Amino acid sequence: MSEHAPDVTDLLPSLEGAKAQHLVARVPAYWGLLWPDLVQKRPVAEKRLAALLLDAHVMRRVVRPVRALMSQRDLETAARAMPEVPAQDDVETLTTVVREVGPLGQCPNCAMEPGLETCSICGGTGTVEVSSTLGSGPNGLRCMGCAGRGSVPCSTCRGTGRAATVDALSVADHGVGLSHLYAPELSLAALDHFRAVVRAQPPPKVLEVGLEARLDGAAYRSAPVPFSFHGHDYAAGMKLVRGALAGLGGEGEVLRSRRALHAWPYLQLSYPGGRKLVLLRDATGRHHAIV
Ligand SMILES: [Zn+2]
Ligand SMILES: [Zn+2]
Repeated sequence: MSEHAPDVTDLLPSLEGAKAQHLVARVPAYWGLLWPDLVQKRPVAEKRLAALLLDAHVMRRVVRPVRALMSQRDLETAARAMPEVPAQDDVETLTTVVREVGPLGQCPNCAMEPGLETCSICGGTGTVEVSSTLGSGPNGLRCMGCAGRGSVPCSTCRGTGRAATVDALSVADHGVGLSHLYAPELSLAALDHFRAVVRAQPPPKVLEVGLEARLDGAAYRSAPVPFSFHGHDYAAGMKLVRGALAGLGGEGEVLRSRRALHAWPYLQLSYPGGRKLVLLRDATGRHHAIV
């Protein structure tokens, strides 16, 4: 609608504003008649609430000392420095960083037959059993894992028969993200609709809130509420947000984290007969009705 960042007054819903934008909120009744347009009706109660839109991400690094056996070839290619922080958010990486290398000696994994270990597919027999339903041929087929030899190059020393004991660090980088809309006062169907409206554009900067309490206007309750955005109460959603953020915790060092929290104001209107209407505005200021 506009290239300018919206003002908060463009985002606060009102019945008057909805009427001015010719918004219609009807639900067809089961018997085919249309219910009256709720926007034109007088509500019996009004709650000013706000949904919370949370986008958070944490990248953590867990470092553990490990002792491992490595071949000459693996030592040449192994990392010696701590890895860079992954640029992407949704990654899990595991890096072994070599710190101290002992002398190269006989590989303890293949002492019986230097450079070779028993094939794990055929167990050393060189043949694998096949189901007789496959045909009338021989029951034992040559093992594909070891080409019938029964052994494969030792995985520790890469077939060289020699390996070194290495003191290393196992470095695990792990990114976890959260993207959620919290509005515990809404039904699941209403929440889906709400989400579709607010996710259509990036959230406006003016809706940004912190985790601290803020009192900037009287909410619908008579007593002041701890979390209020221009009179729209979001205390209930804040409890869920805190729980979700606590769930992002974990062991290790935080390499990178970011969090964006937006309070999205809406009106919950009640009408005689128990009908309810949710009014909100999208990022361009257009009113939407959820019935
Ligand atoms: Zn085999
Ligand atoms: Zn070996």
